[in-house]
Amino acid sequence: MSNEKKELTQLADIGEFGLIEKLTKDISIKNKSTVKGIGDDAAVLDYDQKEMVVTTDFLIEGVHFDMVYTPLKHLGYKAVTVNISDVYAMNAIPKQVTVSIALSNRFSLEAIETLYEGIKMACEHYNVDLIGGDTVSSVTGLTISVTALGEVEKGKAVLRSTAKPGNLVCVTGDLGAAYAGLQILKREKEVYLVNPNSQPDMSGYDYVLERQLKPECRKDVIEGLKKNGIVPTAMIDISDGLSSEILHICKQSGTGVKLFEDKIPVDVQTMMVAEELNLDTTLLAMNGGEDYELLFTIAASDENKINEIEGVSVIGEILEDKKELKLYGRGEGSTTIQAQGWNAYKK
Ligand SMILES: [Mg+2]
Repeated sequence: MSNEKKELTQLADIGEFGLIEKLTKDISIKNKSTVKGIGDDAAVLDYDQKEMVVTTDFLIEGVHFDMVYTPLKHLGYKAVTVNISDVYAMNAIPKQVTVSIALSNRFSLEAIETLYEGIKMACEHYNVDLIGGDTVSSVTGLTISVTALGEVEKGKAVLRSTAKPGNLVCVTGDLGAAYAGLQILKREKEVYLVNPNSQPDMSGYDYVLERQLKPECRKDVIEGLKKNGIVPTAMIDISDGLSSEILHICKQSGTGVKLFEDKIPVDVQTMMVAEELNLDTTLLAMNGGEDYELLFTIAASDENKINEIEGVSVIGEILEDKKELKLYGRGEGSTTIQAQGWNAYKK
């Protein structure tokens, strides 16, 4: 390997149109509903008889990600994935995304190309078309805004507000790992700041780090539900933590809930990190956030069918009394579920 430093291209040298051309030259259209993608004043979409869902999110440097430990390729991938996760959470199939970025002149063309590699990789993986966006300069840092669009058969979108008493509460995958990964990254950053010559010790943390840096969304579960003829009664994806999301469902459905601590799925590596960092595993699973798993409710009569789908755990039941919001512990007794999820405005 050569030690020569490659000369990086300044964005100012190629200009906005040059940049857009470089970033979008190899994009081809995958979906029928994309009539015209990048290259005109606006994209043209034809959803025929289907309904369209639209969702958008900001990712801001220093607020949502830290450039010290976030590789640009992963960041691009995650920016698309977290938006697509919201589309799946509506029981819809993602079809298009737009990506807008604001960046300071500290980023080179090569850096932005790496970011776009991740963006395109996610589009490829989830079969969505990148159909537009904007690239502007900012005074400081990097901001990414992604809008995702998806399609669902008329009347088949699943809302948060339609859970019914007696419904079973289900969650996909395992929880708390992304938060555990973030704590490891933060710890290694502290070590690095004290001693820049130290090598970060990331061995044995591969799963939790991947969950933080390169989350996936549950396309497989949405397909599994469809295949097994299950339509959830309510659904949400877990971005701010299980507590916060189940409370959204209950509040909007006008119901209560009981969850069982011993049913909440947690990976062994997450438990290890929790023990190492002296964190309570359940608290981590309930409030960690950024899991991008699906939380949904189903009719009790679908219980046998749900067991056919891999990676789904039944963790509780929806209750009639909306004041009853309980987590039953492993021993006796219960606690009231509180949303302690990540809050952008909390110090
Ligand atoms: Mg969401």
